[in-house]
Amino acid sequence: MKVLSVIGARPQFVKAAVVSGALRRQKGVEEFLVHTGQHFDENMSRVFFDEMGIPEPSENLSISGGGHGSMTGKMLISIEELIIQQEPDCVLVYGDTNSTLAGALAAPKLNVPCAHVEAGLRSDNRAMPEEINRILTDHACDLLFAPTDDAVRRLKLEGIPHEKVIRTGDVMLDAALLYGEKAKSESVVLDRLELKEKKYALCTLHRAENVDSREVVEWLISGLGEIARDLPVLLPLHPRTRARLKEFELFETLPQGIRTVDPVGYLDILRLESSAALILTDSGGMQKEAFFQKVPCVTLRSETEWTELLPGGHNRLACPLTDSISGKAAEALAAAPDWTIDLYGNGRSSELIASSVLKFAK
Ligand code: UDP
Repeated sequence: MKVLSVIGARPQFVKAAVVSGALRRQKGVEEFLVHTGQHFDENMSRVFFDEMGIPEPSENLSISGGGHGSMTGKMLISIEELIIQQEPDCVLVYGDTNSTLAGALAAPKLNVPCAHVEAGLRSDNRAMPEEINRILTDHACDLLFAPTDDAVRRLKLEGIPHEKVIRTGDVMLDAALLYGEKAKSESVVLDRLELKEKKYALCTLHRAENVDSREVVEWLISGLGEIARDLPVLLPLHPRTRARLKEFELFETLPQGIRTVDPVGYLDILRLESSAALILTDSGGMQKEAFFQKVPCVTLRSETEWTELLPGGHNRLACPLTDSISGKAAEALAAAPDWTIDLYGNGRSSELIASSVLKFAK
């Protein structure tokens, strides 16, 4: 049986590292791995393949940049050609990027079943390009791997037949568990950056609705600056965020306690997360990783798809231009949530996905 998997952006490399491994361990499965090229920098792509042992892509489409339509369109054309050429039994897509949508549009039109890892996530904010990608992908796919109860519920609400949906747990937990020990023993990032355990906050920012707005970026810098008076803030800069800070000429205004570095690899980020006193982020993945590492989190957005982290106080929202980031940070640091609750499965979600794909495509 042949599976054609489509990946292209950083969070997809993390997910594919465990799912691709599980797929290839299944007897009789051949994977054709397509990298669309959406993320291409050494530290946004290559490092994940090297550190996590992701197999070399069978094909790299080198498609990046440009508008959403042009990027998705080019990917759609190339993925369609590959599907015709490779004749897979199933196409596998991950998450919510343009690469996801391109795969999910190409496969069903060629009557090839398509499966979606991380289905059913919703922010209810249609201004997010990711939300459009999620909705269209879920409705185009034949097999939906929903990580959480809420994701299952959302798919049901949208009328998706329940036979298509499998509650799997979250493959990012599998990855955090699988690489956690390696990160502890091999990552030297704390020494390299001269950071002390629990004496800093870790922040990542990359959502368009945050970093493309000068006003929001100023709110972010000012709020992070308040925190940095007591707790230094480490900010590994996503390329988009770096570009906006330059464009808005805001690099020079960064308060002293905010330190920017280039994006780091997966082992280093796991180490930085587990040693941080606090995580501040607009990343989907980092909200869950904060929970896996038992570190309080503030999400710098007005909504989240990972709603199960809010009621227990594991995570809280800081609404752009409205909330005080330092106020939310203080709340997070004072909270004592129950870190033992089971929200994301048992760390074997990728195996369930692999065996379900096999069963489905047979
Ligand atoms: N990540 C990383 N290095 C960094 C920042 C993030 O390896 O410098 C990892 C992070 O731990 C998570 C994934 O990238 O596993 C999340 O990707 P991102 O935030 O780009 O996307 P999202 O999760 O919001 O879709």
